[in-house]
Amino acid sequence: MARLQKVSIERRSIRKYRSFFNANELKRFNPLRKELNGKRILHVNATPIGGGVAEMLQTLIPLQDDIGLKSDWYVIDAPARFFVITKEIHNGLQGKQFTLKKSDLDFYRSVNRELGTALSKMNYDIAVIHDPQPMALIGSYHQPPMISRIHIDLSSPDRKLLKFLYPYLSAYEKTVFSLKAFAPKGLRNDQIVVLPPAIDPLNKKNQAFGLQKSRKMLKKLGLNICRPIVSQVSRFDPWKNPLGVVEAYQKTKKQIPDVQLILMGIRRAKDDPEAVKIYKQVEKATKGDPDIHLFHDAKQLAPYTNEEVVNAIQVASDIILQLSIREGFGLTVTEAMWKGSVVIGGPAAGIRSQITDQKDGFIASTPSVAAKDMVRILKHPKSEAKIGKAAQKTVRSKHLITHQLLAHLELYKDALTG
Ligand code: UDP
Repeated sequence: MARLQKVSIERRSIRKYRSFFNANELKRFNPLRKELNGKRILHVNATPIGGGVAEMLQTLIPLQDDIGLKSDWYVIDAPARFFVITKEIHNGLQGKQFTLKKSDLDFYRSVNRELGTALSKMNYDIAVIHDPQPMALIGSYHQPPMISRIHIDLSSPDRKLLKFLYPYLSAYEKTVFSLKAFAPKGLRNDQIVVLPPAIDPLNKKNQAFGLQKSRKMLKKLGLNICRPIVSQVSRFDPWKNPLGVVEAYQKTKKQIPDVQLILMGIRRAKDDPEAVKIYKQVEKATKGDPDIHLFHDAKQLAPYTNEEVVNAIQVASDIILQLSIREGFGLTVTEAMWKGSVVIGGPAAGIRSQITDQKDGFIASTPSVAAKDMVRILKHPKSEAKIGKAAQKTVRSKHLITHQLLAHLELYKDALTG
C-alpha cells in the first residue's frame, strides 16, 4: 500500500535573502508575490533527504510559504520494490538499456494509481510532480494545471522506456527541464519550460566555513592536511562515475605521490537502492590505498553532520571533482563553485551547462584528461585563483535559490493563466 507522506518544513524568512535579488528581479518579484498570495501549491517527489531535488525543496517550499503561497511538500511512502523499479527507470532515462518486465511496470503503475487517488482527496491550485517516480499518478489524478519537473539527464534515453512514459509526461500542462536539449520530441513548445536548479546560499552546507576550520575538520576525519586533497561528493551511482574518479586519482598519484582522495556519498536517499552495490565496487577497487578516504555512512562523520562535512570538503579540497557521465544538473558542482573552489566536471550535458571550461572551472571528457588537469593545478595552484572568483560570480548571477523562487512564481502564473 503506497501513500503520500507530508514533509515538515523548517521555516525560512525571505528577508534574509533580499540581498541576493538584483533590482530588476525585485521589480518582477514583488507584484508576482502579491498576485499569487494565498494560492495553494503542492510539490511531490520521492525522498525528503538525499539528492539534489530534496536539497532544493528544503528551501524553496519554506520561502514560498513565507511570501504567502500555501505550500506543501509530500514524498512517496511505498514498498522497497517500487524504488528498485524507479531507479531502473531513472537509469533507463539516462541511457542504460532498459530491462524491466511487464509485471514491474504494472507495479509502478499501481503504486502511482494509489498516489493519484491520495492526491484526489487534497485541494491545490497547482501540483508540481518531480521526476519519474510519481510521474504516472497523472493517470488517476489530473486537475490542471499540473507541472512535471524532470531533474535527470534526458540526452540519450532508452527509447522503449521513453515511449512507455511519454503518455504520462505529455499529459502535464507544463514540464520543466534543466536544459532545453533534454525535452523529448513531441511536446508542444508551450509545454516546455527550461529552468536549471539552484542552491541555498544560506543553508548549513553553503555558508562556507573558513579555510582553517575546514582543514581542522578534515584532519579530524583522518586526512593529512599538509598534503593535497582532491574530492568528489556524490551518491555512489554509476552515472556519477566514482570508478572514473579513482582512475583519475591513480593517474595523478603517479606524478604527485602525496595526493589524497575523498569520495563522500552518505546513503540517505530512499529512492537509491543501488548505492550499496556501487559503494562495494568502489571499496574493492580502492582496497589497500590508505590515501583514499571513503565516506558512505553518517556515523563515519562524527562529531560532524553531513552538511558540515560537505561544506568543509568543498572549502578545503584543492580540487573538487564531479566526473559524471550523465547529469541533469549537479548541485554539488554549483555548491563548490559558490565556495570559490576549483571544480573539474565530467562530460555530462548538465555539467557542461554549469561550467565554462577554463573560465570558471574545467571540463574533462575522460578520467585521463581530468588527471592531466589535476597534475597541472596541483603543481601551480596559484595560477587558478581567477577560476574560483569567476565560479562564484557565475553562481551568484544565475544559480541561487532567489532566482529559482522568482522563476517558480513566473511558472505558477503562466500555468494558472493557461
Ligand atoms: N550530498 C550530501 N551528502 C553526500 C553526498 C551528496 O549532502 O554525502 C548532497 C550534495 O551536497 C547535493 C546533493 O546531495 O546537495 C546532490 O545533488 P546533485 O544534484 O549533485 O546530485 P543528485 O544526487 O541529485 O543526482
